Amino acid sequence: MRILVVEDEPRLLRNLAKSLREAGYAVDTAETGDDGLFKALTYDYDAVVLDVMLPELDGWQVLEGLRAAKRTPVLMLTARDTTRDRVRGLDTGADDYLVKPFDLAELLARLRALIRRASGHGRSTIEIRDVVIDTRARTVQQSGNPVSLTAREYAILEYLALHRGEVVTRTALYEHLFDESEDTLSNLLDVHVFSIRRKLGADLIATRRGQGYCIES
Ligand code: CA
Repeated sequence: MRILVVEDEPRLLRNLAKSLREAGYAVDTAETGDDGLFKALTYDYDAVVLDVMLPELDGWQVLEGLRAAKRTPVLMLTARDTTRDRVRGLDTGADDYLVKPFDLAELLARLRALIRRASGHGRSTIEIRDVVIDTRARTVQQSGNPVSLTAREYAILEYLALHRGEVVTRTALYEHLFDESEDTLSNLLDVHVFSIRRKLGADLIATRRGQGYCIES
């Protein structure tokens, strides 16, 4: 899952990006509203964490610009908890918001919920035949036995599982699982998928030649 964080306070931005990466997300960052809106419109993020108080365009303007084009889930960060801000946020199309200072665990929980809701899955576990993916604990079991996946393998499996029934292109996987700070080789994806198949069975993830990968629903 790839997240955009738009926040102008350098320390908070750094800490957020670090914590989100530790939680397994690919993370892009923007320090101004302009840059944030540009990235949010250019890339297909799984969620955007958007501060209200920003230089250039503020968070409301970024949200308006984004909503004119896309439904990307947005978690707003506000400095004050006022009814006015809350109403404005929901009217403008924010999906959720948190008041600063916030608890990091709460931010992570709300992001997970946003991403799940956006993909149409309300529950935190996904079951595909004998495979159970716990998106909260980021663990996988097969027939009740834990299966150990690397962070990258987990991310690929989770993304395909959240989009089961759809063919996910290689480009989409790259966009959602790797961030702007990473250099990647295009054949890496095949290596990860090969490894997932070795651990969970060859037929869990189908290859659609020339199109991408698919987990049947
Ligand atoms: Ca700010």
